[in-house]
Amino acid sequence: MDTRGADPQLSREDAPGNPRAGGQAAASPEDTLASVGEVAALARIFPRLPDADAALVGPGDDAAVVAAPDGRFVVTTDTMIHGPDFRLAWSTPHDLGWKAAVTNLSDVAAMGATPSALVVAIAAPLGTTVTALEGIADGLRDACAALSPGTGVVGGDLSVSNTLVLAVTAFGDLAGRAPVLRSGARPGDRVAVAGALGLAGAGIAKLFAEGQSDASAPDGLPPGTQHGLPKVVPATGRQAGILSPDVAAGRAVRAAHPAIVEAQLAPVSPLAAGPRAADAGATAMLDVSDGLVLDAGRIAVASGCSLELFHDAIEAEGRTLRELDGSIGGDAEDFVLCGGEDHSLLATFPPGATLPEEFRVIGEVREGEDGHPRVTVGGRAYVRPGGWDPFDDWNGAIG
Ligand SMILES: [Mg+2]
Repeated sequence: MDTRGADPQLSREDAPGNPRAGGQAAASPEDTLASVGEVAALARIFPRLPDADAALVGPGDDAAVVAAPDGRFVVTTDTMIHGPDFRLAWSTPHDLGWKAAVTNLSDVAAMGATPSALVVAIAAPLGTTVTALEGIADGLRDACAALSPGTGVVGGDLSVSNTLVLAVTAFGDLAGRAPVLRSGARPGDRVAVAGALGLAGAGIAKLFAEGQSDASAPDGLPPGTQHGLPKVVPATGRQAGILSPDVAAGRAVRAAHPAIVEAQLAPVSPLAAGPRAADAGATAMLDVSDGLVLDAGRIAVASGCSLELFHDAIEAEGRTLRELDGSIGGDAEDFVLCGGEDHSLLATFPPGATLPEEFRVIGEVREGEDGHPRVTVGGRAYVRPGGWDPFDDWNGAIG
């Protein structure tokens, strides 16, 4: 079904195919995609979505029209699938909307652009409650409002699937800047980061360690939730008896370790720092999605240079992490170096550049040894506990 033509003003009573059409039943927490129909569900979702300042024609027509004052636009997309990318036992619908927005918005910011608009496609099981879909919409709205005011949702699609899928496409405007690529780092540049390092990685490790019950299915998903949202009504607790064990375990972990679990489930990316870095002359930039060492390696390979991460800086990042959550202990530096999904911005700046206030220097760009780009920590290759050397075969391993 194509939601771009849906009229946000359409009432659920008017919805074609709505089994309750003509009735005056109020919205109920029991309503599902199957019971109210897609048009009525959309009529409840649309008013919750954020408006985009750049929308010349917003939702409600066959397609949106978005201003691109620069004459070019930045575009990126990211798909989140229940199972590989999130667990419904751990993420609330609001978390999912928030994270789907942030993962895309941070990619736009990492190019040096200001996000302008999102397009959102959701495929959900028929048993998904409309309340859950509203929660996803609220997460999208709140992430835009908090991190990128003026960015909004200009269109989308709602479809049915056995597995919950959120696919978001984000657009951005460069406002006359050159895009900041991964390939521009040069020896002598400083390496700097804006945003958290290691929090989200520590958070997912904690969820895996303590947020699963013995009742978890072999694939790690709680029984009965593999193909749909768990039937949880936290507001009333009326159905608390059917909380899956993993939902309860996940909530306990979240309550005990809020800093790291929130960073994993609802990450905060310093989006405004992206355009500021571009204005300050950043030579290369990306968002840290797969871990500092791996993502720094992507800049190293693309730029044909080596990136040295200062030992003292990594130790300081580890201390920050331990101060936020004392349970992390000796693993903190590993989370700093290898934890992904923080969606911080990693950039290189030429000598003499004045770094935007969000950035802190953690290293420097050096000549590649024998032309071989590497990432080093304190002058040495970093070897993870267990022996995996992320510096082996850079060119083959890093895409
Ligand atoms: Mg990225």
